[in-house]
Amino acid sequence: MKIASVEQFFPRHRTRLVKITTDTGLSGWGESTLEGKPESVEGAVRELADYLVGKDPLRIEHHWQHMYRSAFFRGGAILMTALSALDQALWDIAGKHYGVPVYKLLGGAVRDRILVYAHWGIGSLAEESLAAARERLDLLLESGYTAFKSGPGGKWRGHEPPAVIDHFVECAFLMREWVGPEVELAFDFHGKMTPALAIEICHEIKDMRPMFVEEPVPQENVDALKLVSDHVTFPIATGERLLSRWEFRQVFEKQAAAYIQPDGSHAGGITELKKIANMAEAYYIHVLPHCAIGPVAFTSCMHVDAVIPNFLAQEQVDWALGADILKQNWQVVDGHIELPDKPGLGIEIDEKAVSNRVPYQEELGGEHFYETDGSVADW
Ligand SMILES: [Mg+2]
Repeated sequence: MKIASVEQFFPRHRTRLVKITTDTGLSGWGESTLEGKPESVEGAVRELADYLVGKDPLRIEHHWQHMYRSAFFRGGAILMTALSALDQALWDIAGKHYGVPVYKLLGGAVRDRILVYAHWGIGSLAEESLAAARERLDLLLESGYTAFKSGPGGKWRGHEPPAVIDHFVECAFLMREWVGPEVELAFDFHGKMTPALAIEICHEIKDMRPMFVEEPVPQENVDALKLVSDHVTFPIATGERLLSRWEFRQVFEKQAAAYIQPDGSHAGGITELKKIANMAEAYYIHVLPHCAIGPVAFTSCMHVDAVIPNFLAQEQVDWALGADILKQNWQVVDGHIELPDKPGLGIEIDEKAVSNRVPYQEELGGEHFYETDGSVADW
């Protein structure tokens, strides 16, 4: 069996897919969505496809090594996203070839269903905003979700006046009041705080018992992350922008975070996500794979979630469940998704629905990336 073609699809403004087809007619899907750099990834997939066509699709580790190491310059979000998508598609083909779900090829499931958490929060105490938050919470609770994540929205400077901090803190405590003590609440600081401001806010929200705070500071400086972790009594999480075991190494060795959040479509695909999780296990670090893009990335994460003992919960955004792309959407029951039993990734793509090329758009306009004085702000 040889790889015959690699095609790319652009079905939604933030969903890009690759499809690998073999000369025996098998096909596998991966997700190559990268926020902000869609055309660069498209080019990277094309370059890697030149290598893959004609090769045996079942030599996944060998191809991973080639795609990562052979060009001398390695890593980075663009190459790693392209590599991740192709890796996922190769696993999909392997599962279909052997007639088993991917997780069976990864050592077999250690759990029967995957706990997912949804995005929900109270962003403002304004009446309209509270009504919208209430409505969404009721909807999510009906599906049985038991964990939610939100964040301090908007731009945050090096320090903010008490009114800004207090408003966020008040929203956080109100969220706890609404959901009660049985539900987990987490906050994503989006890497836009300084260590001092992150620590100050974490101290303020400590008594509403968050599950974790994610990316309190940007990802480049592990010592700054450790500074936050050392001053906060609840778990700190990071990792959606760390792109391989080598980028996670310092987080592990310094015990700089309690939880890691590698992304199945940016950190090197199914192959590397499992290795990162296995490495974390030795440090008693749990894994909450990041997924804020489409259903193929989400499904790929779930196959790894199934086989790693140190899995905690899977991030899920509404459109990751499949709308308009999968022939059958994932169903959340009691806050969990049952493991797929079909071969490969266990999903069927609606090829007609994904065949239109939808232009890429950022979710927010450029003005959101600037402070009132005109300087650049973290989003
Ligand atoms: Mg995040």
